Order: sequence, then C-alpha cells, then structure tokens
Amino acid sequence: MHLNFKTLLATFCLATPLFYSTNAQAEGKLMVYCGVQNKVCEDLTKRFSAKYNVETKFVHSSSGSTLGKLKAEKDNPQADIWYGGTIEPHFQAGELGLLEAYRSPLQAEILPQFKSLMESKRGDFTSIAYMLVLGFGVNTEKLKALGVEAPKKWEDLLDPRLKDYVQLPDPRSAGTTYTMMATLIQLWGEEKAFDYLKKLDSNISQYVKSNLVTSNLSRGESATSVGFVHGYISEKEKGAAVEYVLPEDGVGYALGAVSIIKGARNLDNAKLFMDYVLSKEVQEIPWRDHGLYQNPTNVNAEVSSLSPKLAELKLVETDYDRFGSSEEGKRLVDKWVSEIKLAK
Ligand code: PLP
Repeated sequence: MHLNFKTLLATFCLATPLFYSTNAQAEGKLMVYCGVQNKVCEDLTKRFSAKYNVETKFVHSSSGSTLGKLKAEKDNPQADIWYGGTIEPHFQAGELGLLEAYRSPLQAEILPQFKSLMESKRGDFTSIAYMLVLGFGVNTEKLKALGVEAPKKWEDLLDPRLKDYVQLPDPRSAGTTYTMMATLIQLWGEEKAFDYLKKLDSNISQYVKSNLVTSNLSRGESATSVGFVHGYISEKEKGAAVEYVLPEDGVGYALGAVSIIKGARNLDNAKLFMDYVLSKEVQEIPWRDHGLYQNPTNVNAEVSSLSPKLAELKLVETDYDRFGSSEEGKRLVDKWVSEIKLAK
C-alpha cells in the first residue's frame, strides 16, 4: 500500500491528539469560585476551557461570601479554586485550614514590592493575581445639583448635605469595605475609625453589593461612594458623569488573590488555572478586552494607561498579620454589625 506523507501524518495525529494539539494537555473539570467582574470570570473560564480542554464552570461571589461558603462546605467542597476577591479573606481561609498548598512557578513573576509577602508562609496557599486601589467615586452632576464639592478626604464624606447620598458595600459580604475598615484603622487607630464609621452611617442611604455601588453612582442614585477606583474608571469611559478621587489622607489598596480549595476534586486543573491567571497574558485581558482596569501584578504585564500609577500613590500599608487573621476579621465585621448596622 502506498501512503503519502500527508496520509501518514493524519493517521498519526488521529491516534495521538497530543502530537498536533498542545491544547489537549489537560482534560476533566474545574469549578471556580470567582470574585472578579462577572464578564472577566466568564471570559477567562471560557478561554481556559478551550485552551486546556477542561470543562470549566464558575460561580460569582463577593470575598466575604466566598469565605462563608468555604467554611460551610469544609467537609464537602463544591469548588476547586477561589479566584479573585481581596486577599485578607483568602489568608483567613488559609489559617482555618480551608486551602490546599500550591506555589505556582509563576509566583516568581510577582511585582517586587509584594515578593516578601509571597515568601511568607501565606504564599504557600495564596498567590496575588492583581491589585486594586481604594478611593471615592463621585457623580459630578449629582454633586453639582446638591451644591457640594467633590470630597477630598475621608472627613468630607460626613458633610450633612450628603445625607442619603452616600453608598457603601456591605462588609458582611464585601471585601471592599473590609479594606476600607483596615485602611482607616491603619490611619487612625480602631477607636477613631469606628467613630468615623458610625458618623458616616447617618449619611448612608444603603449598604449594597460592591458592584451595585458603582452602577448606582452612575445612575445618580448616590452622589458619592467608596470603592475600588477601577470600577469608576470604567463607568466614566462608558460616558457616565463619574470621576474617582484618591483620599488626601492616604490611599488604601487591596490585593486580588487566588487560592486552591482544600479537598479540590480537580487538583491538577486547579493548579493549571492558578498558573494561567498569574500569567502576564491573562492579567492583561481585563483591560485589553473588557475595559476593566484592575492593576496586573505580574512584573512583565503591561499596565493600561488608565489604571492608577502605583509608584505615584501614597499607599497606606496593610498589617496582614492582623487583618489576615480569621479571628480579627470576624471580630471587626461583628463589631460593625453590632455597633453600626444594628445600633440605630
Ligand atoms: N476584585 C475585583 C476585580 C473587584 O472589582 C472587586 C470589587 O470591586 C473586588 C475584587 C472586591 O469585591 P467584593 O467587595 O465584592 O468582595
């Protein structure tokens, strides 16, 4: 029988798919608890599925809610990996024994300022996938109608003319407000920070989910809110009368994290997904393809010109020993509930 080269190649490829497709290096399933924007969760899991031939699903949830789920599902984990959300609840999960150890080789590509954090014991379980900068969002039209200038520092949010025009994410579910509390405690100490949160409560119209804080501001339902500034940048780009302000007192920040869940049924795929989201290429997808401006933390990733310039910011340092502790995290959120939310 005469076989030409093409026929031989086709026969060989059919028998051994790995020979012609590097995409077929993994298969099986993966379930992701996803804390980045829904659009990014959807796109990254879809691309990962296609690239590695892994049936990948995700459930979107806020940082505090995901930590709650991990605790509740301790004996029967329902997901393999937790991608996104602020890093403190990830550290808290690690301390509670809810995470699986994995140090991705891509951890070596972290920005130099976060190297020592990753070299600590916490880096055995959790890696840093992006960074967020905390600030105020303002609706310039709404503020104009109220005759109020844009806030420049935290105290300015207490202006009585802003009564019922300020919104905050609910710290029971949102990592955003936990970052805000940690920032204020670092700046002023706990007593003054809670005194401030109590006073601020009288201006708050609603404690909502973090994504709603931004969309409600764009619609003019609030005049100002506290959130991560990349969300406000996207709203402005879409044409809303929204700007962001970095507080003069000092700028808080959060690290977006990724961790594998203890007892993951699809451990190898979870490791592959961790490597994937730590890569330069994937960290650029939110701003290149979706107009979403979280700062990449892979040292080789290009940063959008619209993202905050980290080197120019007066960042408030975070004490991860304190705010990454599960006992302290629970104490502070419980204190907010009893002293602020329920103490009307
Ligand atoms: N990660 C990203 C990319 C975000 O945009 C946000 C919130 O804006 C967070 C994490 C924190 O989310 P949450 O406050 O809902 O925990």
